[in-house]
Amino acid sequence: MSIKRHDWTRDEIIALYNKPLMDLLYEAASIHREHHDPNVVQVSTLLSIKTGGCPEDCGYCPQAARYHTKVEGNDLMSVQQVKAQALRAKSSGSSRVCMGAAWRNVKDGPEFDQVLEMVRTINKLDMEVCCTLGMITENQAKRLAEAGLYAYNHNLDTSEEYYKEVISTRGFEDRLQTIENVRKTNVTVCSGGIIGMGESVEDRAGMLVALASLSPQPESVPINALVAVEGTPMENEKPVEIWEMIRMVATTRIVMPETQVRLSAGRTEMSREGQAMCFFAGANSIFAGDKLLTTPNPNVDDDMKMFEMLGLKPQKPFTKVSQPKTVEAEDSEFTPLGEKPRWSRPGHKIERNLQAQATGKVEAEADSI
Ligand code: SF4
Repeated sequence: MSIKRHDWTRDEIIALYNKPLMDLLYEAASIHREHHDPNVVQVSTLLSIKTGGCPEDCGYCPQAARYHTKVEGNDLMSVQQVKAQALRAKSSGSSRVCMGAAWRNVKDGPEFDQVLEMVRTINKLDMEVCCTLGMITENQAKRLAEAGLYAYNHNLDTSEEYYKEVISTRGFEDRLQTIENVRKTNVTVCSGGIIGMGESVEDRAGMLVALASLSPQPESVPINALVAVEGTPMENEKPVEIWEMIRMVATTRIVMPETQVRLSAGRTEMSREGQAMCFFAGANSIFAGDKLLTTPNPNVDDDMKMFEMLGLKPQKPFTKVSQPKTVEAEDSEFTPLGEKPRWSRPGHKIERNLQAQATGKVEAEADSI
């Protein structure tokens, strides 16, 4: 019987990651079967409820306003639009809707109230609701929980050391603080990262150390392969090889045995055989829908054909944690505090981020001549 540990060291995780592949797969698959039904995969739909124009400088992200990408921004969607999309997702097999807004942090006010209404609406459709809205305070986490939120996503992205090569507008400790704020409620935590940003295997292991040491460990951990988007600082990063993805999934499964490990961005580049090996290695969740926020994703029909071929079944909602109750806005016991938390702005210089920003400016000026 495998034991859940919070004291994994980086060296132990590197040793796992570098094991002969067949040994690594066997160990991961065995642990997976102890804790999960290997033929059930959770399906989530990611909805970008507010796209682009983000003030942050995440080097992988086409939604950062400072980079010169082709992403078209839009204002916050209406509750009705979100409801219609959620119903579509439900009818095509999704048990969870994850709503993403390109914000640095949540601000109390009408837009957050609207998001709370979206949470109430989707929970009443008997679907799990997840939000990824940037940094949140404890009071905001409690308001989301009261509306019926099932999960909050806030990725660590990478190791604490490599984080300084990716983002300069907020610190790694802000990420941990937001996760801690979510943990003061019954909302589950979804937190993972991205591989293929130029980080080393040591950094990948460092990220897993940070995630595994959280107590409790996140209920879900998305593993993304970078989708290198033109105009972002990481546009020239070479694609992640399927073997790296399989090793990362297997290692994640071993160090976080009860967690749902999600195959996230980068699935369009993976063959069905590659994805099947990821499921064998312990992945038991995917994002469905032909777009992941702004980057491409396999379409739902293709995914369902793959499920059929592999004999996989979509997981029913609220299998792991029971459905939260929704409290209506007028009955809420929390008031907006209008807080202005001091999230950090480390401001260290990341050369490639600055370059991508400057290139955008030069091109924009040339366009306007
Ligand atoms: S990843 Fe999120 S916070 Fe970072 S730039 Fe993109 S939308 Fe903003």
